[in-house]
Amino acid sequence: MISVEEALKKILAAISPLGLEKVNILDALGRVIGEDVYAGRAIPPKDNSAMDGYALRMGDTRGASAEKPAMLEVVEEIPAGAVPEKRIGPGQAARIMTGAPVPEGADAVVRMEDTRKEDGQVAILVEAKHGQDIRLAGEDVQPGEKVISRGEVIRPAEVGMLAALGRSFVSVHQRPLVAIVATGDELTDIDEPSSPWKIVNSNSYSLAALVLNCGAVPLQIGIARDRREDIVAKFRAAIRADLIVSSGGVSVGDYDLVKEVLKEEGNRMQFWRVAMKPGRPLAFGMLGEVPIVGLPGNPVSAMVSFEQFIRPAILKMMGHVNLFRQTVQARLGEDINKKPGIRHFIRARIQRDGDFYTVVTTGDQGSGILKSMVRANGLIILPEEVTTVQAGGMVTVQLLDDSLDWTVEPGY
Ligand code: AMP
Ligand code: MG
Repeated sequence: MISVEEALKKILAAISPLGLEKVNILDALGRVIGEDVYAGRAIPPKDNSAMDGYALRMGDTRGASAEKPAMLEVVEEIPAGAVPEKRIGPGQAARIMTGAPVPEGADAVVRMEDTRKEDGQVAILVEAKHGQDIRLAGEDVQPGEKVISRGEVIRPAEVGMLAALGRSFVSVHQRPLVAIVATGDELTDIDEPSSPWKIVNSNSYSLAALVLNCGAVPLQIGIARDRREDIVAKFRAAIRADLIVSSGGVSVGDYDLVKEVLKEEGNRMQFWRVAMKPGRPLAFGMLGEVPIVGLPGNPVSAMVSFEQFIRPAILKMMGHVNLFRQTVQARLGEDINKKPGIRHFIRARIQRDGDFYTVVTTGDQGSGILKSMVRANGLIILPEEVTTVQAGGMVTVQLLDDSLDWTVEPGY
């Protein structure tokens, strides 16, 4: 038996980031950029006004107050987007809107609220400071400055920055195509007539959803029957993907043929009993050039193993360096006992409780009980050596999504 860490290390060692492709900046969202981005221009391009008000010469407002305003001649109006035509001379001002370029000669903007309009003139009611309410050219970004570095994840802020720099396309790591193969004679697909003797192939869907959640592209290969030829045929169809994920057929039953087939097909195939529950049996290797992970068939085992091994592998392919789910410490709401020697991943519901988190299990932990996965937003990780945690004890919880802090106060 090998540890979760050893299995993960071996899988990640065989995975490399995919190549780059140019995509529209909105399609780059959530993906890893493959280039350094340098600004080709200044942002903002020109000094512009931060307020609706009057552009003027600071010296003209010395000593000005509501009782003793400075009276200035208004020489032009500069709406946002306009090009100023006049130079501001002594005793002059221009009415200016937010975002409009500051005219030559002016060295301050006084906001509208501190002025009073009078017949071709404006009364300035305050003393202006040098540069007041003027955004300087290049104060955000200087031409030639590096604004985004290779390897960073494109978030809405980066999309905005790329747009501001006039970039509509950007180079990012490709999304892996992940082939999904279900195996089992007992399986039917969701659209086939139901039968009490059959089990619906839910794994292909939960796994495809997990792949989508990683930002990758699922490729449904369908159900392989528990026959050598069929498994070989389905794996052949999967070989154009960047990664193959199968479910079922990796334990010790008479019809667990995935193992047998993989031994023949590839020469670097490894089968492990991983010291974890659920999800003990796991196959990993290369099918030709393509990495393949054989997950156990039980619906929860398949999902939990995906979380631990395949999600990090897919994220690595996408160029990410943060491969792992967030974990938090939480106060356990009940007693839990386990056998020593293997790591347990226990479906649980974690929630914020003031400054702390509390966590409770979501019921039956059988590896086929999908309902307790449906109710879970995290997995309590109980280390190998632990046998008992009592209610009130602290445990590590791996978050499965970002639902943790959604809870709003009643009546919100
Ligand atoms: P196996 O690992 O092939 O022995 O499968 C273990 C159990 O998982 C089977 O008895 C099925 O009940 C269930 N199972 C296997 N494959 C799937 C699947 N694609 N969708 C839903 N359940 C499955
Ligand atoms: Mg099976």
